[in-house]
Amino acid sequence: MNPLTEIKFKIPFDQIQAEHVEPAIDQLLVEANKLVEEAAADPNPLMATDTMTEKLAYAIGLVQHIESVATTPAFRAAFNAVQPKASAFYSSIPLNEHLWNAIKKYASTDESRALQGTHKRFLTKTIDSFKRHGADLDAAGKARLKEIDVALSEATTKFSEHVLDATNAWDMVVTAEEQLKGLPPSAIAMARASAESKGSEGWRFTLQGPSYVSVMTYLDDSRLREQVWRAYNTRASSGPLDNRALMAQILELRKEKAKLLGFKDFSDLVLDDRMAHTGERAQNFLKDLREKTDQRFREENQELEKFAGRKLEPWDIGYWAEKQRAALYDFDEEELRPYFPLERVVSGMFEIFSQILGIRVAQVTDMPVWEPDVKTYEVRDATSNAHLGSFYADWYPRENKRGGAWMDSLITGDPAKSHPHLGLICGNLTPPVDGKPALLTHREAETIFHEFGHLLHHLLSRVEVRSLAGTSVAWDFVELPSQIMENWCWERQALDLVARHWETGEPIPDDLFQKMKRAKTFRAANAQMRQLGLGFVDLALHREWDGKEDVVAYARRRMQPFAATPIPEDYAMITGFTHLFSSPIGYGAGYYSYKWAEVLDADAFTRFRKEGVFSEAVGREYRDKILARGDSEDPAELYRSFMGRDPDPQALLERAGLSG
Ligand SMILES: [Zn+2]
Repeated sequence: MNPLTEIKFKIPFDQIQAEHVEPAIDQLLVEANKLVEEAAADPNPLMATDTMTEKLAYAIGLVQHIESVATTPAFRAAFNAVQPKASAFYSSIPLNEHLWNAIKKYASTDESRALQGTHKRFLTKTIDSFKRHGADLDAAGKARLKEIDVALSEATTKFSEHVLDATNAWDMVVTAEEQLKGLPPSAIAMARASAESKGSEGWRFTLQGPSYVSVMTYLDDSRLREQVWRAYNTRASSGPLDNRALMAQILELRKEKAKLLGFKDFSDLVLDDRMAHTGERAQNFLKDLREKTDQRFREENQELEKFAGRKLEPWDIGYWAEKQRAALYDFDEEELRPYFPLERVVSGMFEIFSQILGIRVAQVTDMPVWEPDVKTYEVRDATSNAHLGSFYADWYPRENKRGGAWMDSLITGDPAKSHPHLGLICGNLTPPVDGKPALLTHREAETIFHEFGHLLHHLLSRVEVRSLAGTSVAWDFVELPSQIMENWCWERQALDLVARHWETGEPIPDDLFQKMKRAKTFRAANAQMRQLGLGFVDLALHREWDGKEDVVAYARRRMQPFAATPIPEDYAMITGFTHLFSSPIGYGAGYYSYKWAEVLDADAFTRFRKEGVFSEAVGREYRDKILARGDSEDPAELYRSFMGRDPDPQALLERAGLSG
């Protein structure tokens, strides 16, 4: 019996082996292909399209999950073997003419015209999605679309290889100890270890994140900072790893694809199914925020120059900002660690949201896990005691686990039939050391809240159509339920439940809490301007660049207004901007979503602010109108039903100390 071929709520993680993967996926692909043909023969194919991939998605999801948290060489090989087959199957669905004809035929019946609510939305979304994937093109159009997709996939893969290679190709070895002045001991040790690994003397600096950031933040020698900054911001912009031509090609292909599918440009294609809907609307959103940020942005930069007592170059900003921060706030984030023992953070968080949302979270021990320290929980409705869902929590780093923090869904249940949902949250948080419990930073505590928010979006879903349930929402809406949770990590009342000194049980002392809050808004206009600039250049490239001006020069010109200092002629951050160009879609025309979601979460939280951060009334409303609804309704409508109006950026500006 292959443990991957049947959906089981208590997933047999103790039985799944690498050798199960290929036979299971092969078998499920055959079954899924049969189900696609059955759906095409069904006079009402709509609901069949919702369930035809359920078993395959379950198995693929499990394989991906195990690859992320408990991989072995054999498992990775099996995963790599099935991955292309599965993605070929998924991209074949909208191009299946039998199924597409059946859906169109059904859409013209009286039965389908009488559909209401979620089912009506599902029909519309299915038709739109098929069209966006080329279902309506003639044979020549479909063939060209396929060519474009293959070319995009090759060009974007090459783009990201170039960035990786260019990043790795550069290093700087310092041999005179006095040149290290300013760096913290941990950064010096890291540079020494890096030199040693290459068999060289001295200290080696690279363009990898931790090395680059430590140099730009702390190194006193401005000439060395300049060298590193210039190397970083000209990656993949010349020589054999030059990304210019690839970028131009990717942008042209994306434009052609959008036009082929009936859209004005790539931003309109990508945003068609998102909350912003059009590239123009996203651009206006950024423009508005920019106008509201600009004055404070200029002031911050003047204050910094005054503090430094000199005119600043781009490679001076991070360095002097750190000096200014230390002078103004005298705040070390490490001071907070003893107040954030992981177990307390988690149990305090459960307490807060159980009360607000009307749920109960309890640990259970009857579910097999992939690693002994993974914990399992179930979530019940506090009133009816109905089992809403269960989840796994896996918090500590391991060698066989990927980095970062994330939430995933394993089973999308059906609340109407009392089938609970199943999901998980994972992180790579500071583990316990020296006999002490795991003591987290405040940022790590926020991460736990964030992922728990995504998880609740899944577990509290009450959507009857699988494909529209839980977190299957527009990309610029999906971070609302997660980011809103982080707000509680800044509220005294909530922190008192979550943050207690691991030895004394004391809450965070008030002076430390005040320092932490003040430091939060330090140079917030600069942080915001940077994100707005990246969002702007992304949309400008995908909407306005006409192919005549050199793409790097164009990007540089569009980014200058968002930079704290004049940027040099050879500035080419864009050729290393993997968010936009390292996959066929990726964050292309979607970088604005970061700010968009922040506006939503800050704004939505104002209801809790006004009516009480523990308000059960607001909490139940939030659960019913947002968390329970998945994508069963236009997200703009869901938002209005909770707030009584459209999103307002004012709350974000206030939270960042930018409201004037
Ligand atoms: Zn998230």
